[in-house]
Amino acid sequence: MSRYDLTRAELAALLRGEPAYRVNQLADGLYRQLAEPAELTALPAALRARLGRAPELAGALDLVAEQRADAGATAKWLFALHDGAQIEAVLMHAPRRSTVCISSQAGCAMACSFCATGQAGFVRQLSTGEIVEQVVRAARAARAAERRLDHVVFMGMGEPLANFERVARAVGVIVDEIGIAARHVTISTVGVVPGIRRLSTFPRQVNLAVSLHAANDALRDELVPLNRRYPLSELTDACATYVAATRRRLSFEWALIAGRNDRERDADELAAIARPLGAHVNLIPLNPTPGFPVLGSPPARVDAFRAALAARGVNATLRRTRGRTIDAACGQLAARAAAGDASVRALSMRGAP
Ligand code: SAH
Repeated sequence: MSRYDLTRAELAALLRGEPAYRVNQLADGLYRQLAEPAELTALPAALRARLGRAPELAGALDLVAEQRADAGATAKWLFALHDGAQIEAVLMHAPRRSTVCISSQAGCAMACSFCATGQAGFVRQLSTGEIVEQVVRAARAARAAERRLDHVVFMGMGEPLANFERVARAVGVIVDEIGIAARHVTISTVGVVPGIRRLSTFPRQVNLAVSLHAANDALRDELVPLNRRYPLSELTDACATYVAATRRRLSFEWALIAGRNDRERDADELAAIARPLGAHVNLIPLNPTPGFPVLGSPPARVDAFRAALAARGVNATLRRTRGRTIDAACGQLAARAAAGDASVRALSMRGAP
């Protein structure tokens, strides 16, 4: 558990006997100042010391390894949780935004063939606080780099819509307590149809990304096993409901796999699904993983695929393969650390976010 799992009422219980305004001071310290309890100088020293020792207020994320790339603009962290489960988070600075990519589960049960996390399997759900704490750690690191964390994407380990309640509560905390705009929060799903339907009536204006990767059932069954449970007809139906109900733009993620989903007819099939939904497509060349040693599409094919989509009335942007040198594809750092790879530099907490 994490200190960020505590509700205001639970914080108040820890502060019994103190003036009521201490609850706000503590919450402000944790979520706005991004401080450790022992750093809250607004509190009297004795109280600060007591809170600093309170097990309920301990942090949940222990930094195991850090990798940096893109001249320091990208940092990927591997964290251990209290039970030894490991998760990843990635902080990316662009000229006008800083984004953290966070995990919603340790491991993942979706078993997508090309995904390192899917290859490793499911460990457990993350608590709301374990999700929120990744954002806090990234916001601290951004601040140390004189940047402001302003975007959150649920594109780390796990399937957020398979941990719906805790993810939904985490979004509430990220928006209300940390102060990141809901429209700057993106939930990415492999296509959990009941979850997409629930998001249609979710009160927060978050963005939805669907990891499509294939626009015919035969190929999608192979790449994304969940497609056998929720085939494309059901998935696109849920997407249409979502778009109609929220009037928000939907995006599709499409990892370009050489010779598999990067041809003209793949663009045809994708456009047939994306265009009626007004969906935007994010293209990314596949990052090869040990369990799926297939190459991403070469740059010329990526460009041709994007042009083919544009010719069919579908907007697509190419996502830079940030941090390729640091195994930034989902689950790769964890997989390498588990294999005892010496290039995964072990760190002490000193100097960590
Ligand atoms: N389970 C959610 C969120 C986590 S994955 C989902 O599937 O959307 C975040 C994104 O990374 C997804 O679009 C996923 O398909 C993509 N991804 C996973 N492994 C990849 C790889 N090896 N190369 C490129 N993209 C990958």
